[in-house]
Amino acid sequence: MAETWIEVDLDAVVKNYQEIVKLLHPETRCMAVVKADAYGLGAVEVARSLARAGCEAFAVTRVEEGLILREHGIVGLILVLGPTTEEEWPRAIAAQLQLTLSELSSIAELNKVCSVMGSEQSTLVQVHLKVETGMGRTGFRFSELEALSHVLDQSPHLQVTGVYTHFARAARKDRAYTLDQYQRFTSFTARLGELGINPTWKHVCNSAAFLDYSEWHHDFVRIGTLLIGHYPGQGFKGKLKLSDPWIAKSRIVHLRKVPKGTYVGYQSIYRTKAETQLAVIPVGYADGFGTGPHFTPQGWADFLRLVIKNFVALFGIFLGLERVELKGKTVRIAGKIGMQLTVLDVGMQECSLGDEVEIPLRRTVANPRIPRRYRQDGQMFSERVMEEGVLPFYKEYSLE
Ligand SMILES: *Cc1c(COP(=O)(O)O)cnc(C)c1O
Repeated sequence: MAETWIEVDLDAVVKNYQEIVKLLHPETRCMAVVKADAYGLGAVEVARSLARAGCEAFAVTRVEEGLILREHGIVGLILVLGPTTEEEWPRAIAAQLQLTLSELSSIAELNKVCSVMGSEQSTLVQVHLKVETGMGRTGFRFSELEALSHVLDQSPHLQVTGVYTHFARAARKDRAYTLDQYQRFTSFTARLGELGINPTWKHVCNSAAFLDYSEWHHDFVRIGTLLIGHYPGQGFKGKLKLSDPWIAKSRIVHLRKVPKGTYVGYQSIYRTKAETQLAVIPVGYADGFGTGPHFTPQGWADFLRLVIKNFVALFGIFLGLERVELKGKTVRIAGKIGMQLTVLDVGMQECSLGDEVEIPLRRTVANPRIPRRYRQDGQMFSERVMEEGVLPFYKEYSLE
């Protein structure tokens, strides 16, 4: 029995999906972005329950992620958003993954790989053209359009089913940059049309753009953040109601009463202020606990907050520390979070060895080795653990 685990409520994910679908125009479909193991929730379980709820399209970053979905029975459209390599193509084509094209040099090669795979003309790979409009990452630029059209003409095994772009600042209040990006996208697709390339589908919206630019939904909206119960930023809360599918839990594995003045943890940054109990839970930064993406201030107010926070930490006051809950009450993290152990100052609250605590564990960085327990229809029905540290292994469960 694991002492640290994550409970994922698939009913909540499905509810979020249904809230999203309600806001779509009838001709638009939701493409569920389940990259990075569905932002930590578990790509297979999330994709399966969404497929059951009617979702027909999924997106991942890498070929490997798409193959895992296929192997676990996902039959819908699977788009690979990231760049792919020649070694991956045969498997991707065989699994009918749709690939993103974002640079010229690989197109002829992809066509060749496809042509030798099937002797008949019928082996096609469906591709989406990625347009670089301001993300500064991958994609074709306007100046490459003539060359793109030329190489596509020579590539009969490629079928252009989509064209898309990705916004850098859709969650910001200032719309100018996003409008520019969209304008570039429109010029690009117009020119494509003049060159005789007419992709079946267009898609531009991520979670933030889906909520703020409903006139740009087109054929698909690509949604990750909202599905897993997060808002893309402040100010989106009123736009739809989300359910949180994620609870991380750990158990007290060591408990001791200590006197006032006891130092706790590395660098002894914490000292007990009174007689209290210290509880140890088996989770630490190697599990993704207490870690997060680097925070860059978005303005002077943010910067000031950061400075004050670091300043008062000098005096042992830790603002904005994450909340750990024991029997519904917030308890403090005592000292620095360790690699795999964390100490809690639980006060004189009644508790015992083996008690569960709820911990704030960021979903995208939660270690995949932490078992995921899935709830559906209000019941726990499966658990996923790592098998020999590699691929996920699913145990079907039924609790009566
Ligand atoms: C991750 C990603 C998305 C989903 O973005 P969210 O804001 O999480 O909904 C959409 N499109 C692309 C290209 C992505 O990489």
